Amino acid sequence: MKVKDPVCGMVIEHSKAAAHANYGGETIYFCNVGCQKKYEQTHRRDSA
Ligand SMILES: [Zn+2]
Repeated sequence: MKVKDPVCGMVIEHSKAAAHANYGGETIYFCNVGCQKKYEQTHRRDSA
């Protein structure tokens, strides 16, 4: 499955994503943890 890193716009294979987390009920994938950290500045991760 191809997924898009919403921070930098890079399209990656989800199995090769460096990081992923649930936000608003959706699993978001990132090309690296730096992109995840940037995303977390504007989106709150689900506690569940
Ligand atoms: Zn990225």
